[in-house]
Amino acid sequence: MARTMLIGAGGVAGVAAAKMAQNPDVFGELLIASRTKARCDAIKADIEKRGFGKNGLKTAIATARLDAMDVAATTAMIKEYKPDLVMNIALPYQDLAIMDACLAAGVSYLDTANYEPPDEAHFEYSWQWAYRERFEKAGLTAILGCGFDPGVTQVFSAYAQKHYFDTIETLDILDCNGGDHGYPFATNFNPEINIREVAAKGGYWVADPNADRPEVAVENKKAFDKGWWVETAPMAIKRVYNFDQVGEKDMYLLHHEELESLGCNLKGIKRIRFFMTFGQSYLTHLKCLENIGLTRIDPIDFKGQKIVPIEFLKALLPDPASLGPRTKGKTNIGCIFHGEKGGKPVDYYVYNICDHQECYAEVGSQAISYTTGVPAMIGAKMFLEGKWTNKGVHTCEEFDPDPFMSELNVQGLPWKETFEPVKVP
Ligand code: NDP
Repeated sequence: MARTMLIGAGGVAGVAAAKMAQNPDVFGELLIASRTKARCDAIKADIEKRGFGKNGLKTAIATARLDAMDVAATTAMIKEYKPDLVMNIALPYQDLAIMDACLAAGVSYLDTANYEPPDEAHFEYSWQWAYRERFEKAGLTAILGCGFDPGVTQVFSAYAQKHYFDTIETLDILDCNGGDHGYPFATNFNPEINIREVAAKGGYWVADPNADRPEVAVENKKAFDKGWWVETAPMAIKRVYNFDQVGEKDMYLLHHEELESLGCNLKGIKRIRFFMTFGQSYLTHLKCLENIGLTRIDPIDFKGQKIVPIEFLKALLPDPASLGPRTKGKTNIGCIFHGEKGGKPVDYYVYNICDHQECYAEVGSQAISYTTGVPAMIGAKMFLEGKWTNKGVHTCEEFDPDPFMSELNVQGLPWKETFEPVKVP
């Protein structure tokens, strides 16, 4: 049985902790450490109230207050608790500080979102890939972006590549949330990170910058050593898709982090796009908030003190962890591949459908936190069971997908597949 340290105590961390407590044979001891200790205590109390455990075993849970931006304090806590793995489910701003602490303490690392500097609404892997050599030399593993997207979408990609394709030519990742929380405007995960992501320019990955360049493209940028980004204005590319068990939804092309690593790791890939569904009310509110400056990330003067408008906005919006009881409906997230095997064309769609109310009944959360927290737990389980232990810094498609795919089916996120998908134009 292993000892795990979980940093963060928000919606996703709460689900990950609950699922760890459902697997006490692997997660024997757990320390939940976060900025607000009361939230760690609330997660522990909820797990105890639900009586999670298996075969008479229970996870022994401790809690602590920790500011993870403080590398020395985090290192000291890791050294004292001596976990086998540190799971970072705080915010992307903490990624590098926690990776530094893991290196200093000699412990492996897992997170659910790639690093983003607080003063720049921009995410990419370069900052964390710069740690590759140090993790390798230290004999440690860092698993990056082990939620659903990023995370499961990359496991789906590795699975498709391993079993069904010689080469994958195109990949469309479709993220549909058909849930309704009843608020005119709320975000399903951390509002600050969510709004920064969806207000950014759209973009998709292509191998050849001259092929398939739509009218709305504003710029082609080099994407590191492989491929190009085609950039568009935010929400400039819209498609309508009929999702299994959810129905027809408008979806918009977004820039998303896993496109960058998949562009490097999928054989023969020519184009990768990411679409997310949004309702009209969400988009109208977002546009209004942008127009009046409330999504700004730079500090402004207010009555003699500096405030960052998006941080103020976050304080006004509902806490995503509180949406569980109100959210009804389903999510449907998956990947549509086109490529070839043995010289014959192949189409393949693999996806998961998750019901908000079923998640709430099981662990007290809505499905967005659930679909992120469950894969984070599975990634940790893969590491602790010795199945995902490549040294260095890796994204989820770089590991064997098979044991992870099996776990999805038994840990609450079963997947479906079809070889005759409706394709996205
Ligand atoms: P929340 O805002 O609900 O929770 C974040 C938690 O991190 C809070 O408990 C917060 O503390 C804590 N925290 C913030 N700063 C620090 C710090 N300096 N030191 C210690 N703890 C800190 O976010 P979510 O649970 O919705 O999201 C968690 C992560 O999951 C994010 O990185 C998000 O981007 C990612 N995510 C990934 C997805 C995927 O599919 N890959 C999908 C959805 C989310 P406090 O309680 O004091 O505020």
